[in-house]
Amino acid sequence: MGEANLVKTICGYCGTGCGLVLEVKDNKITKIRGDKEAPVNKGQTCVKGAFAYEYVHAKNRLTSPLIRKAGKLVETTWEEAYQYIATNLSAIKDQWGPKAITMFACARTTNESNFVTQKFMRTVIGSNNIDGCNRT
Ligand code: SF4
Repeated sequence: MGEANLVKTICGYCGTGCGLVLEVKDNKITKIRGDKEAPVNKGQTCVKGAFAYEYVHAKNRLTSPLIRKAGKLVETTWEEAYQYIATNLSAIKDQWGPKAITMFACARTTNESNFVTQKFMRTVIGSNNIDGCNRT
């Protein structure tokens, strides 16, 4: 067993962006505490930031995309998944118009990802139908 390393990061659970310090031992997170130097939370965290990290090492965590085929979700490649998404979004847009498509962005991702998401919807799809729980 090696020594625990302390790794500073930002919590991705919500848009608050609390600073966290991870204790990492043998490439696994063993403990999380708030970063006292982080201006947002000054060492505090909520229950999610402090304790909800076991999913990182969960055995049943998804590691590849799934496509429903004949009623069953089947593992596929990222290339096939992106092709599937592009083909089906294009077909919906061609048949029903851009306003038939909407997107719900995620508060658990970065501001940059949310920026790209709304750009994609407005410029590629041509729809303002975008929303997200991060505006609340
Ligand atoms: S610790 Fe809690 S409040 Fe802070 S960013 Fe994570 S989920 Fe949000």
